Amino acid sequence: MVKDTDRQHMRSTLETLLATTLAQRAEDLVEERDIAPAQGEVIDPAERAGSRQSDSIAQALEAQHIREELELEAALHRLAQGSFGRCTDCGERISPQRLQANPQASRCLGCQSRAETPKAA
Ligand SMILES: [Zn+2]
Repeated sequence: MVKDTDRQHMRSTLETLLATTLAQRAEDLVEERDIAPAQGEVIDPAERAGSRQSDSIAQALEAQHIREELELEAALHRLAQGSFGRCTDCGERISPQRLQANPQASRCLGCQSRAETPKAA
């Protein structure tokens, strides 16, 4: 069972991470606007290709931040529900070291590596 003090500590850790992720995403959006051409501006094809490439990088980054946000929100939800620190797959306790390194972890190490490894046909 996770102690109350631990839970409070974990909640503030998660909330800080969530705020950081949101701030990063806001920054990404501002940067994206900065590199977008002004209305009516003519871009040569080479430049357009370059900006398209940075667009997809920005999109990938944004997608990653959204994923992190969702993971952090899910972790906060589990914390409120009292199921935080338990693996969502097998229900075993997630090791404190793992939670310290990755507070939004929803699976124990074993289940996580199983989830990340493509199933053998
Ligand atoms: Zn597990």
